[in-house]
Amino acid sequence: MSISKSIACHVRLRPTCPNDGFVNPDAIKISGNSISAMNKENDKRYHFDLDKCHDAPSTQEEVFECVKPMIEQAIAGQNTTIFTYGVTGSGKTHTMQGNQSDPGIIPRTIESIFRKQSETPNPFSVSFSHVEILKDEVYDLLGDRSEPKKRDIRTSAEGQNVVADLIIQPINSVTEFDIIYDAAAKTRKTASTKLNSSSSRSHAILTIYLQHPGSDAGHTTQHGKICLTDLAGSENNNLTGNDKERMRESSAINTSLTTLGKVIDALNEKAKRGHKGSGTAFIPYRDSKLTRLLQDALGGSSQGLLICCLAPGEKFARDTINTLQFAKKLK
Ligand code: ADP
Ligand code: MG
Repeated sequence: MSISKSIACHVRLRPTCPNDGFVNPDAIKISGNSISAMNKENDKRYHFDLDKCHDAPSTQEEVFECVKPMIEQAIAGQNTTIFTYGVTGSGKTHTMQGNQSDPGIIPRTIESIFRKQSETPNPFSVSFSHVEILKDEVYDLLGDRSEPKKRDIRTSAEGQNVVADLIIQPINSVTEFDIIYDAAAKTRKTASTKLNSSSSRSHAILTIYLQHPGSDAGHTTQHGKICLTDLAGSENNNLTGNDKERMRESSAINTSLTTLGKVIDALNEKAKRGHKGSGTAFIPYRDSKLTRLLQDALGGSSQGLLICCLAPGEKFARDTINTLQFAKKLK
């Protein structure tokens, strides 16, 4: 098994859209894999070097090119995690999901998995689970969709955090996935409505499990897993209104995103020091449900890609700096 921690960090600047308001074309500048952004508050320009910067004209295909090798590795048995991070409206869902005419990472991943499966003489099986984390509670989006099903997280005998009673749905084709996944999207909407929230305020985690024939729980190298996470908007409390419920949500989101940042810091630190495998005690996974669920995807032998999404409007300037500061953690 390979050594822990390899989270690459990309940014993607989305094109201007009609309700962006004022856009200063010089505020965000991308050159190669470097990006700089103006902080209006002190009139200073901040520079960041990242693994890759996708400028506004970037296509879904180009972004997926970076994901492809990770899928290959997942099929070969690695744990893979891809996140989209950024303020609401910055293009996270577009990047992760896209739409019918411009599909994003999720549909392209599913498509490429089944293509690969069809080319494999001894094909692996595919299944998936789909949960959302809303106000630090986990909801299963599969199964009966009449009401959101709150789930507990348990720590297994092997020390892994697992969602109790999680539905893991076997799938045999892209079409089968699409039908079940579309139903899950409706469940997500129902959940948001019932809980008086918006889906931009929840984290959505789609996990795809790949299992090779003949493998079992004792042969971990034969299991691959791809975790595709569309994170909740990273906006600040002060930008999201001040009614009590919204503040409570905001603080749950901010706590989980802050914890995610701390976990990434701790993993980087661990990797820098060259520690292998043993002990996860000093990595604060337990501080949020998001990081508990992502523990095995983030640590151990997993590979990761964080795509930080940016919106060009001046009203997002503060969030741009915040997002880039989060991105910098991975460098
Ligand atoms: P988020 O999920 O971060 O809140 P969305 O993905 O919903 O943001 O994007 C906000 C809007 O911008 C949507 O209408 C989306 O279609 C559009 N958009 C985002 N990124 C792009 C892009 N790269 N190209 C074209 N349109 C985009
Ligand atoms: Mg979204």
